[in-house]
Amino acid sequence: MKAVKFGGTSMSTADSILSVSQIIKQDAERRFIVVSAPGKTESENKVTDLLIDVSRAAPERRVQMFAHVKNRFEQIAGGIGIGKDSLGAVFCEIEKQLPTADAEYIISRGEYLCAQMLAKLLGYEFIDAADLVKFNGKAYDDGYTESVCKIALKGKRNAVIPGFYGSNGKGEIVTFTRGGSDISGAIVARAIGASMYENFTDVDGFMTCDPRIVPHASVIDVLTYKELRELAYMGANVLHPESIFPVRKANIPINILNTFNPTASGTKIVPTEEFLSGKHKRKTNLPITAIAGRQHFFSLHLDKSMMNSEIGFVRRVLSCFERYDIPIEHIPSGIDSMTVVFSAVDNDTVNALIESVRNEVKPDHISLTTDVALIAIVGHGMKSRPGTAARAINRLSNAGINLRMIDQGASEINIILGVSDADFERALRALNGEFEF
Ligand code: ASP
Repeated sequence: MKAVKFGGTSMSTADSILSVSQIIKQDAERRFIVVSAPGKTESENKVTDLLIDVSRAAPERRVQMFAHVKNRFEQIAGGIGIGKDSLGAVFCEIEKQLPTADAEYIISRGEYLCAQMLAKLLGYEFIDAADLVKFNGKAYDDGYTESVCKIALKGKRNAVIPGFYGSNGKGEIVTFTRGGSDISGAIVARAIGASMYENFTDVDGFMTCDPRIVPHASVIDVLTYKELRELAYMGANVLHPESIFPVRKANIPINILNTFNPTASGTKIVPTEEFLSGKHKRKTNLPITAIAGRQHFFSLHLDKSMMNSEIGFVRRVLSCFERYDIPIEHIPSGIDSMTVVFSAVDNDTVNALIESVRNEVKPDHISLTTDVALIAIVGHGMKSRPGTAARAINRLSNAGINLRMIDQGASEINIILGVSDADFERALRALNGEFEF
């Protein structure tokens, strides 16, 4: 049995929804379907973005603004043959709530309507995500969700479930962060004990590198959860970074597939231990699986003689970051020096941070670099092969790119390289050339 999630582009037009319905019918295992709201088309904005505008409007203007969303759904419903007016009762229910509704209720109605529509087309049961996905206040409650979901879905033949939201103990609708339908799909996959979580999107799979920067990047056939986590964190955003946790816990593989090219085998994301034990084979046997990167980091560099013997030095530096609520990305360090890499923050915050670090640890020297890009080269293959870091460094040096930082985690699955924002794209291309994707 499979849980299948379709993203916004797959649900964006009548034609694409008819393809979705075909895909579902082709495999009797595709019994639990999770959907996003209709996405962007050439002439239309994402429904979620339109609903965000509705939620920000004055209460008396909301019904009028919602008319555009309603019209889009009516067109799609007409186009897929369930009748333009088939969602009439659902529209009435939403319109009644709009003037007094919370923003998250309004923003989640794209998924709600989309799931209602697909359920009618397929003849599947509609199950509201509010009854399955549980929040404690605004925080997602995984344990409670797992038990509620398991009970609610037990014995069901099939269902269409809206992604992106759930509800809390007060009965309020709460949404995940943007792209959160991926998490909903993973929650449903775990609850039904799926053999596979299929995630249909508009690309052929996870790429070895960002194809906008490296046009000949290729699709990765097999990726482990661990590699995916590193790559997703570094900006490779095919999947919501948190979406793997529910399925990883249950050892359920994910298959990223393309609604617009459904015969392509896509990327399979498999449990790390299974991969390492040889259960899943990759087509290629390269040291690196993929490369991803992000720009616009800051790095704060500190020097102080005898820093290594000053007990509590690192803790006191980090406490300043905590004080200003700044998450830390990496901390490469030397004997008398330490660098803290973090996402760019505004001028006032960074000045206050530097002042507080100065007072806290009295460094001999402190300096800030503001245009840092981080690149992660990721792959289990590097563990057994010496020289991966050396190859990366040499390649960058041969391309005339200055390396500002290098950091390798103890698990030897990724090497993080820091370069300037200006060198980012060139560095990605050079590294991609080195590792022969
Ligand atoms: N529709 C929501 C968004 O645009 C959630 C999702 O698509 O996963 O972010």
